[in-house]
Amino acid sequence: MENCIFCKIANGEIPSNTIYEDENFRVILDNGPATKGHALVLPKEHYADLFEIPEDVAAGAVKVAKKVAGMMKDTLLCDGLNLVQNNGQVAGQTVMHYHLHIIPRYKDDGQTILWKPTRPSADELAEIRKTICG
Ligand code: 5GP
Ligand code: ZN
Repeated sequence: MENCIFCKIANGEIPSNTIYEDENFRVILDNGPATKGHALVLPKEHYADLFEIPEDVAAGAVKVAKKVAGMMKDTLLCDGLNLVQNNGQVAGQTVMHYHLHIIPRYKDDGQTILWKPTRPSADELAEIRKTICG
């Protein structure tokens, strides 16, 4: 993808603060971090989102995230961690190259990576299950 910023970063054409790299992935520090150490797992191949990325590459991204999460726990002494992965504009995706956010969390860090729970009825939940599963 010629004009994809994350393709350029992942493949080293644009410099980044890389905290992990292997044959298939680069992990960089987010330049607008939610918290100290917020990082992004970037596949070196271009896939727009979860719908496009092959299963084995998606699994590889989670493996890399687990490795980096361990590094963060040991070095940044975070108290917790969120993995976040947005797909589509409506879901908050702003860069259309698949990436997995690793967001270390600290007590009182002031961030809220949460949603507002709704209260569907038992019938509504059963209907949704039917819609998804047939
Ligand atoms: P999204 O909203 O697509 O899930 O996340 C995109 C993330 O990429 C944002 O957190 C944003 O701060 C980060 N980002 C966007 N452009 C750049 C860049 O050029 N360099 C780095 N390091 N992070 C970027
Ligand atoms: Zn790309």
